[in-house]
Amino acid sequence: MKIFIGSVIFVTLFLIYLLLLCRKNKSELSKSIQAIIAVGTSISIVIILQTLCTDERISLALFGAYFCLTDWLMFAIARFALKYTNYEKYMKHINYAFPALVFDVFFMALNVWYQYAFSVKRIQTFVGEFYKFVPGPFFQVHGVIVYFLVITSLLTFLIKTIKSPGIYKKKYYVFFILFSLLVILEGVFMFMGDTVDFTVYGYAVAAALMYYFALSFIPKELMNQTISIVSKESKEGIIIFDEVGCIFCNNSAKAMLRLEDSEGDSLVGMSRGDLIRKYIYPEYQEEICYREFKTNYEEDGKTYYYKSVYRGVYDEKGKTIGTSLIMYDKTREDEELRKQRYLATHDTLTGLYNKDYFLRVAADRIQKDLTTKYVLICTDITKFSLINDLFGEDIADGVIIRIAEEFREKLPEGALYGRLYADRFAMLFPRKYLEEKMLVNIAEAINVGDREYAYTVKMCFGVYEVANRTMPVSIMCDRAQAALSTIKEDYRKYVAYYNEASLESVKKEQEMISELDEALKNRDMTLFLQPIVKTDGKVVGAEALARWIHPKRGLIPPGEFIPVFEKRNLIVKMDYYIWEMACELLAQWEKEGRDWFISVNISTKDIYFLDIFDVFTTLVAKYKIASDKIRLEITESAIAQDVATVTELITRLQRLGFIVEIDDFGSGYSGLNMLKDFPADVLKIDMKFLSRADEDKRSKEILRSVISLAKNLGMDVITEGVETIEQAKFLSEERCDMFQGYYFSKPIPVDEFIKKTDEIPRVE
Ligand code: C2E
Ligand code: CA
Ligand code: CA
Repeated sequence: MKIFIGSVIFVTLFLIYLLLLCRKNKSELSKSIQAIIAVGTSISIVIILQTLCTDERISLALFGAYFCLTDWLMFAIARFALKYTNYEKYMKHINYAFPALVFDVFFMALNVWYQYAFSVKRIQTFVGEFYKFVPGPFFQVHGVIVYFLVITSLLTFLIKTIKSPGIYKKKYYVFFILFSLLVILEGVFMFMGDTVDFTVYGYAVAAALMYYFALSFIPKELMNQTISIVSKESKEGIIIFDEVGCIFCNNSAKAMLRLEDSEGDSLVGMSRGDLIRKYIYPEYQEEICYREFKTNYEEDGKTYYYKSVYRGVYDEKGKTIGTSLIMYDKTREDEELRKQRYLATHDTLTGLYNKDYFLRVAADRIQKDLTTKYVLICTDITKFSLINDLFGEDIADGVIIRIAEEFREKLPEGALYGRLYADRFAMLFPRKYLEEKMLVNIAEAINVGDREYAYTVKMCFGVYEVANRTMPVSIMCDRAQAALSTIKEDYRKYVAYYNEASLESVKKEQEMISELDEALKNRDMTLFLQPIVKTDGKVVGAEALARWIHPKRGLIPPGEFIPVFEKRNLIVKMDYYIWEMACELLAQWEKEGRDWFISVNISTKDIYFLDIFDVFTTLVAKYKIASDKIRLEITESAIAQDVATVTELITRLQRLGFIVEIDDFGSGYSGLNMLKDFPADVLKIDMKFLSRADEDKRSKEILRSVISLAKNLGMDVITEGVETIEQAKFLSEERCDMFQGYYFSKPIPVDEFIKKTDEIPRVE
């Protein structure tokens, strides 16, 4: 008897201990296990009291309490079952059993007096004497409530076991078996003869197992299984070692190490050092506990790139229990990085090096290879912005791309080259490869393709010979560009070499650009007049030619500043100023009764940037002059750039009485055909293009035909550049209408022009 009571007390204490353990776990599941154990503990206490009880009525009460507690125990278990299996949505159905439990309390309480459910009888067992309950006629009323709850719990576990996927079945059938055993135990006790209530041990064991399975073992095991499945599927390669060797290697790792499945399985058991040295990093040293390895695999022309991170795995106490090696596939990031690097160093349009990168690699080359003499060459396309504006970006881009192709094809092997910006390229190669012919070949190849747009793409090269290797390459480029700018409008020249003079000329250009506004404001920019005379020597008009009377440099001829201003589009400003000056002068002459005209020069850029029609109609209105007094000289090459637009423009001007002259006829490429299409009033032929007309019979013949053609087309002819009396005589015989040239007068200031008009020699 004492042993039995002692053991039940022990069970009670064990249950209390379990209860305390459970309290550490704060989950909902733990709470419902706590409820079960608490009820179980109460039952043990009731059993102890029951065993010690010697009064029949108290025994009846204690048995009543015992049965009620069994209800509550089953209730708690059913709730646990629903919670554990995640069927919580049925919880409220279980709660319907609650009134039945309350009913059972009254049912058992009244039984103390009426004994309809059970009675007790004193029995003698091998452990001693105590009360045993004897079921009455209505005992099964209590039984129904308990069976309902028990069946609910068992069914819950059973259904869940059937429905769950493989790895989870265990989680549920463990409890199905556990509770089934408890039910069987309880049944055995109920229908056994006279014996002590040994079921209490069963409850204790069940509680302990429940605690262990629900809160500890199964969650951990499931976690392990889940982690291992996730690792297997992970796209990162995972290899895990214990202190002996490889214990796990997922599929991604096998794939990254380029191993077949069977081969991959043989990794398991291989020592860490062997594995890493064989497959990942040959120089691997065992001692290192953290490390990153980079591995490249070439396959089908593609480079795969992996990063492997290797680190120790430690337990809570900091002891090494193994190592992990995680492999990341960085192929795409690597590609992205390469792409970024490429974009940062290359020009997107041509694929050549960009400016920064070219400067860097060029500097590197010059400073590393000290025995080779180098040349640095910059290129430029004459009037590239015009190609852009006239033909559109696509055509202009096409030109740039073709230049890059030509470089790739024709530059010496090992040459460095890149695109600085827009139409500017730079190249660097050993001096010994420098051949003007090679450069001219490139220039000519580029020119050919644009015939269809009737536009010449002229590429020029500025060459700088590298003397001082420590000079920044950007300055070398500046020097090459300085050389470039000396080529200017010379159509036959492709290559220019840097020397101090070219640097000087660039400086001068910069100066002139910055001084233009000041010059216009101070009237340092002025016009000279060169008389235009008829055969009888009578002055009929003059050409207005710009002169810059510089406060420091003295008189600067237009050949020096006009190309510079043209390049920077500043010519538009200057010309407008000259035209206005000419109109002012004409207005004054009109008052003084002088009947001369003035021809002004119109540059290509003027036509492009200004509304010429609007400008001239406004000017003649402002100065109240006749429109035929101001003549417009448009060069043949300006007309050729856009015949249709210029034709339309001058026809409108002619309708208002303006006179339009074709300047520098014969200097361009368009030839006689253009005369037919372009309805100018006057043709201006430059003697300079036929400079030896007096000696050369052929030249004379050409001059004769052109004059006659112009006359037939109804145009007047002016010949400029007339320097000798012979020239003048010949032209006069050929029915040239007017002359301009040094023979008659150089361009001179306005007041001088007025004085001079009387002294001009007669031709006849
Ligand atoms: P251009 O329009 O062909 O002007 C005629 C040029 O020939 C002038 O040079 C003139 O001085 C020169 N010249 C005249 N007679 C003779 C001669 O007998 N022999 C020689 N060898 N040369 C002669 P200049 O004044 O130096 O002007 C050069 C060019 O500059 C002009 O050529 C014209 O294209 C441009 N230019 C001059 N003034 C202006 C201007 O105000 N606006 C624009 N857009 N261009 C101008
Ligand atoms: Ca002219
Ligand atoms: Ca001319």
